[in-house]
Amino acid sequence: MTSSTVLPECLNVATKAGVEQCGDAMFQLASRLYPIPRSITGDGVRTSLKILQEYLPLTLHEVPTGTEVFDWTVPQEWNIRGGWLRDPTGKKIVDFADHNLHILNYSIPMNGRFSLEELRPHLFSLPDQPDLIPYRTSYYNRNWGFCIPHSLYERLPEGEYEVFIDSSLEDGHLTYGEFLLPGETEEEVLFSSHCCHPSLANDNLSGVVIAAMLGHLLSARPQRRYSYRWVMAPTTIGAITWLARNEHRVSNIRHGLILSCAGDGGSITYKKSRRSDTEIDRAFAHVLRHSGEPHRILEFSAWGYDERQYCSPGFNLPVGCLLRTPNSQYPEYHTSGDNLSFLKPWALADTLIKTLSVIDILEGNETMVNQKPKCEPLLGKRGLYRGVGGGSSQEVALLWVLNQSDGQHSLLDIAEKADLPFAEIRRAADALAGTDLLRSS
Ligand code: ZN
Repeated sequence: MTSSTVLPECLNVATKAGVEQCGDAMFQLASRLYPIPRSITGDGVRTSLKILQEYLPLTLHEVPTGTEVFDWTVPQEWNIRGGWLRDPTGKKIVDFADHNLHILNYSIPMNGRFSLEELRPHLFSLPDQPDLIPYRTSYYNRNWGFCIPHSLYERLPEGEYEVFIDSSLEDGHLTYGEFLLPGETEEEVLFSSHCCHPSLANDNLSGVVIAAMLGHLLSARPQRRYSYRWVMAPTTIGAITWLARNEHRVSNIRHGLILSCAGDGGSITYKKSRRSDTEIDRAFAHVLRHSGEPHRILEFSAWGYDERQYCSPGFNLPVGCLLRTPNSQYPEYHTSGDNLSFLKPWALADTLIKTLSVIDILEGNETMVNQKPKCEPLLGKRGLYRGVGGGSSQEVALLWVLNQSDGQHSLLDIAEKADLPFAEIRRAADALAGTDLLRSS
């Protein structure tokens, strides 16, 4: 598959067909990334980022093992080539080649024979979901193990088992990808997605493919007020590493968004930044309220994704988190059930479109000043009633913009007060700015 079949040159998200095309393209990209055995370090992340480079010109940064990043240290690099478990009859009952969740992520290499009793502490299964393979990691404790369906675990006979795990854990690098798309100002919008989970679709890949598509679409815009930065990094340690290396740069971040678990069939969820009333918090609340669709707005919590790092008190950045069904609130979470059939192209597209609506607000929000603030000016003689249609909500929008544009209220403030979609307020402001009535402050 070539990149041109995945991300066509021109995607017009203003049309229903274009939106569907975006959803299909993101799903195809997720399908390419899904089988790659990723972890917080290693070739899986590198291979994934190199595929993503076809859509977004990410720079790959390699940070050596042992690098101090705030209170953490970049760990050794883990790579996995294969692994299996044979039962006492010699039959291969678990094979990494069948599913890359089968090997405990960060498992040390192992080659030996073990009794069932010795083996059991190294087996991970889900008694309540007996047919699913759990996703388990052991990043900071040296361990080995297999993740298996509980239905298999319960059938294991007594006897001697043969274990083979062909992995390596040695000094190397942590890899992350980064891309800056310049705009008219150095003020930045940050998109951060984790890319460290192996074959899990909604948790990690949904965020990555939506971020890639945002990059594709925003790069094609002729004008951008903000610069846009993408960070694709392993969760927790990757975000900590990026922040440690870019502390001098974060003051440019005006708005930020974590994207994850954003492609399932559930309704959309926005989790506010730690500050809770930043412009991006308000813009998402506005877009979701005016969508007329079910949604959730969650207050900030200290548990979740990399907002824990970006919104730590020493940074306290205006970074929210966009999801559909929140992590750990769907039964497929961190299991083999979070696969490509759990990911919906329409849901990926819906998350993308709502994020673009928020970007339109961020790009278009400003504070303006009414140049004739004493009583209402006569709109008719400036052609504004005729120009935008009398008696409509657009006429009401004109009056709201004139009334509130005292240099103190932004267009988003006005849209909220007027309970009108931001786009209508922006259109009214543009119409007024085309006359002698309104100027940017
Ligand atoms: Zn996860």
